[in-house]
Amino acid sequence: MNDRNAKVLLREDRYPKGANHPTLHIEYACPCGKGRIIDERVVGFGDYSVWFECKNCERKYDFLTGCGYIWELEEK
Ligand SMILES: [Zn+2]
Repeated sequence: MNDRNAKVLLREDRYPKGANHPTLHIEYACPCGKGRIIDERVVGFGDYSVWFECKNCERKYDFLTGCGYIWELEEK
């Protein structure tokens, strides 16, 4: 699973307190389907982070990340 084939559940701009630039917040369905993958990007700064909100998948997978907001899951 990667950022191109994961199912998007939510995609919206968020403004963390005091921020001038929006954070693009994306939620994807995780591989087991019981939780989510959260991806946050500050557009224009190349800044992003991606993490699990799923205890099952957190134990099973690592994120491989690269430039250009991409990520891919690798089994541990
Ligand atoms: Zn999961």
